[in-house]
Amino acid sequence: MNAHPDLRDCPACGSATVAALPDLAPEPWHIGGCAECDFVFLRNPVDYTALEEKHAWETTYSTEHEAREAKRGMVRRIARQVRILGYGLRGKRAQVYLKHLEPGPVLDIGCGDVVRFDAPFTPYGIELSKALCAKADATMRARGGYCLQGAGAERIGDWPENMFSAVLMHSFLEHEVNFPQLLEGCFRVLKPNGRAFIRVPNFAALNRRIQGANWAGLRHPDHVNYFTPATLQSVCERTGFQFKLVNRFKIWLDDNIQALAIKPAA
Ligand SMILES: [Zn+2]
Repeated sequence: MNAHPDLRDCPACGSATVAALPDLAPEPWHIGGCAECDFVFLRNPVDYTALEEKHAWETTYSTEHEAREAKRGMVRRIARQVRILGYGLRGKRAQVYLKHLEPGPVLDIGCGDVVRFDAPFTPYGIELSKALCAKADATMRARGGYCLQGAGAERIGDWPENMFSAVLMHSFLEHEVNFPQLLEGCFRVLKPNGRAFIRVPNFAALNRRIQGANWAGLRHPDHVNYFTPATLQSVCERTGFQFKLVNRFKIWLDDNIQALAIKPAA
């Protein structure tokens, strides 16, 4: 009998053959590596969307799962705080993406309250946190765009096809449980030749191999996807994108992957 019926199959290829990697995460978190496609991921992710949309910590205590949810609630609150803290740090990083993206309407997925784009870009965004989205929305509206509140994989469906010159997912894709749906949405909303700039922790980095479970890229349950250059390329190409590593020089020494997913010309 399966001791963990709640553990999900590989989100990248759908395989149920997933090896446990217990050294990478403490209980109650389960990280697995897919035997088919090598993708490494958190098998029991937290549903942040449900939390933000249903105000889960107020309402779950009145459900029949009261006792279990109360225990898990503590972990979830901490995880959420960690996630929001991360937003403040992102805007200060070097803006490598600017020289790789075409001016025009740009969609920043998981923007927090940081608006990174100015003319000749028109900034649009998707942000899960209601408070951060409201702040981003005010700034974006002043620059001709706006921000939608909700989960990336869902709200991406609300934008028209071929709308954006560029998409930015800066320290975002490692958080998105339903990343295949998000990538498909990005492909749809980008114009032909449009580019998505992706920055994620590099699970293949030498530093990760040396530091093992202490590697800074491992954050439970905040990070759910642990891409290598090879697995990121594979999921992008499966979506229809052309893939290009931006920091391909000594990528094995770099703790982050920076890459472009390019929608082919029509
Ligand atoms: Zn797989």
